[in-house]
Amino acid sequence: MAARPFFEAAEPHMGTLVGIKLYARNELQAKTAFRAAFDRIAQLDEMLSDYKPASELNRISRTALRRPVKVSDDLFRVLAAAQQLAEDTGGAFDVTVGPVVSLWREARKERHLPDPDLLDAALSHCSYRKLHLDKAAQTVTLDEEGMQLDVGGIAKGYAADAALDVLRRLGIRSALVAASGDLAFSDAPPGHRGWKVAIAASDSVLELTNAAVSTSGDSEQYVEANGKRYSHIIDPATGIALTNSTTVTVVAPRGIVADPLATAISVLGEHQGRKLAAKHAGVAVYIRGSSATVSSSKGRHPGRASSS
Ligand code: ADP
Ligand code: MG
Repeated sequence: MAARPFFEAAEPHMGTLVGIKLYARNELQAKTAFRAAFDRIAQLDEMLSDYKPASELNRISRTALRRPVKVSDDLFRVLAAAQQLAEDTGGAFDVTVGPVVSLWREARKERHLPDPDLLDAALSHCSYRKLHLDKAAQTVTLDEEGMQLDVGGIAKGYAADAALDVLRRLGIRSALVAASGDLAFSDAPPGHRGWKVAIAASDSVLELTNAAVSTSGDSEQYVEANGKRYSHIIDPATGIALTNSTTVTVVAPRGIVADPLATAISVLGEHQGRKLAAKHAGVAVYIRGSSATVSSSKGRHPGRASSS
C-alpha cells in the first residue's frame, strides 16, 4: 500500500490557534476530516467556554443553584475529571476558581493587581466542595450564589482528545491535534515510531503515539507588578496568581489527564507535583525552573503589600 500523504490545517478556536496534522488517503478525506474535527472543537468551545455567556458552563453557573441541573455528556465528563483531580490535590486544581480568575483577568487588562478585598470576597465562593455531581442522574448542583465555573485548565486537553476521536471515526488513524500548549496524538506517522515532540523543560525529543502532552506555565498571559510576573494560574488556597516561572510538561494517555495535571503540578510545586504524577498510570512529568518555586507569593495580598 502506498504511503498516505500528509495534510495540515489550522483554525482559531478556544481563544487560540488549533492546528491539526494528519495522514489521509487523499485530499478529499483530509478535508472532510479537518472540517469534522474543527467543528467538534467549536461545539465543545460553545459548551465549555466561560467567555461565552450562553455556554452550557455559564448557564449552569446561573441555574444550578441549590438544585440539580442535568448537563451534557461532555460537560459532565469534564467536570467529573476535574472534581476527581480536585480531590486528589486537595483543591490545587479547582474549577470553581472562576470568580478569582475573573479578577485576575481584569487585572491583566488594566495592568494592576486585583483589589485585595474583592479578591477575598471572590475567593469565599471558590471551593470544589461547593460543586456537586450526581453521576447516575448526570446533574450538577452549586451550593451558593456567586459561584462561577471555569474549565480553562482542562477544556483544551479534552477538546484535543475529542478531535482525535472524530478523526479516528472517519478512518484517520495517524493524527496530531495541537491547541496551543495542549497536544494529542494517535498512531505514528507512516514509517515512523511516533510523533516527535520537543519537551521544552528537558531539552529532549520524545516519539509518542496515542498520548497527550500538555504544558503549563509558559503562557504569554501575565500581569507584571512590583517586579513579579503573575501567571494565569491561580493558587486556590490563596487566590493569588502564581509568580514562579516554572514550566510544567505532562505526558499522559489522554489530554483530559495531561492538561489539568500540568496546571495542578504548577500549583503544587515540584515535590508534591511529582508525587501526584506518580499516582497516575502512564504519566511522565518534566519541570523546568522549579528552583524559582520558593519565590511564589509570600503575602496573601500583593496589592496591599506593595502599598504598605
Ligand atoms: P493554558 O490555558 O495555557 O493551557 P492551563 O491549562 O494551565 O493553561 O489553564 C489555565 C487556566 O485554567 C486559567 O486561564 C484559568 O481559566 C484556569 N485556572 C487557573 N488556575 C486554576 C486552578 N488552580 N485550577 C483549575 N483551573 C485553573
Ligand atoms: Mg492545563
